[in-house]
Amino acid sequence: MSRVYNFSAGPAVLPEEVLREAAEEMMDYRGCGMSVMEMSHRSKVFDDIIKEAEQDIRDLMNIPDNYKVLFLQGGASQQFAAIPMNLMRNKKAGYIVTGQWAKKAYQEAKLYGEAIELASSADETFSYIPDCSDLDIPDDLDYVYICENNTIYGTKFKTLPNTKGKDLVADVSSCFLSEPIDVSKYAVVYGGVQKNVGPAGMVIVIIREDLIRDDVLPGTPTMLKYKTQADADSLYNTPPCYTIYMCGKVFKWLKKMGGLEAMKAHNEKKAKILYDFLDESKMFKGTVRKEDRSLMNVPFVTGDADLDAKFVAEAKAAGFENLKGHRTVGGMRASIYNAMPIEGVEKLVEFMKDFEAKNS
Ligand SMILES: *Cc1c(COP(=O)(O)O)cnc(C)c1O
Repeated sequence: MSRVYNFSAGPAVLPEEVLREAAEEMMDYRGCGMSVMEMSHRSKVFDDIIKEAEQDIRDLMNIPDNYKVLFLQGGASQQFAAIPMNLMRNKKAGYIVTGQWAKKAYQEAKLYGEAIELASSADETFSYIPDCSDLDIPDDLDYVYICENNTIYGTKFKTLPNTKGKDLVADVSSCFLSEPIDVSKYAVVYGGVQKNVGPAGMVIVIIREDLIRDDVLPGTPTMLKYKTQADADSLYNTPPCYTIYMCGKVFKWLKKMGGLEAMKAHNEKKAKILYDFLDESKMFKGTVRKEDRSLMNVPFVTGDADLDAKFVAEAKAAGFENLKGHRTVGGMRASIYNAMPIEGVEKLVEFMKDFEAKNS
C-alpha cells in the first residue's frame, strides 16, 4: 500500500486511522454480520451511530441546546436554495460576495426574493475579505450571508461581519471543525462534509431552533423544509448512512486529537510552514492579502503558467497530488485540512525549494 500526500480541495484527505477502522468494520460492523452500508437506517445499531455522531459534534463545537444539528443530503449547494426558502420571510437578504461559492449562493437567493450584495471583493479577484465592520444593512433584511472560508481563493473571515443585529448565516464547508467557533453568533452554520469532515454526499446544518418553522416560502419542497428534517431527527427519508458513520469516526478522532483548540494549533503550525516559505521564495508567491489568509486552502503561483504546469506535473510524480489550482483561477492550491499531517507540508516545502533551485 502506498499513500500519497493528497492536497485536494475536496473530496479530500481523511485521517488514516479512520480509514483503517472503517476497513476493519467493512464486512462485519461490531458483530452485526453486515456493513453499515447494508443496514436499515431504522435499526437500533444505526440509531446509535447517528445519535453518537450528533453528540460528538455537539461536544466538539460546544453547540448550544437551542440549536438543531441536521445531517442532510444535497451537499452545500442545496443549501443555497434551502436557506432563502426557509428564512426569507421578508423576501430580502444581504450577501457578502467573497468568491464563487458566495456568489452562487447569492445568485440562487435571487430566485426566491430580493438578494442584495452588501460587499464584494470581486474587484481584486477575491484575494481579500472586505471590511464588514460598518456595512449599510437595511432594516428589513432576513439575514446576512457569508462564505466564511473561501475554498477557491484561500481567504477567510478572521472576524465576523457586524450584521447590526441581523441573523448571520455562514457556509463553513472548507473550515468546518478546523478551529473553535462560537455557534451562538450564528443563526445557521452549515458545511458540506467532503472538505474537512468526511466522504461526499452530506451537508451538516446547525440551526437555531426559532428559525425552524412552518411558514416557509410557498412551493418549498417537503425535503428542503428544515422543519421536516428537524422533526424527523434527519431520518425523514433514508439519510446518507455511511457518510454519517464516517463523519462520526472523524468526530471521535478529533476528540482524541484534543478537540478544536488543539486542531487550531496544529493547523496554524502547518499553514505557517507553507506561508513562511511563500513569503521568502523568489519563485512562488501567495495570492492572498496576508491578514485574510486561510489556514485550510493555500493558493500560490509562479507567475508563469508553463512553470506552474511543470511544477504540478513534477509534484504529482513525486507523490504530492492535486496541487493544481481551481480550473477558474489557475496556478496552484494546497488544501491542508485537519487530516493532512505536518510532514506532508514539510515535505511539500522541501520539494518546492528544490524545484525553485533547479528552475531559476
Ligand atoms: C465545495 C464547496 C461548496 C459546494 O459543496 P457541494 O457539497 O459540492 O455542494 C460550497 N461552499 C464551499 C465553501 C465549498 O468549499
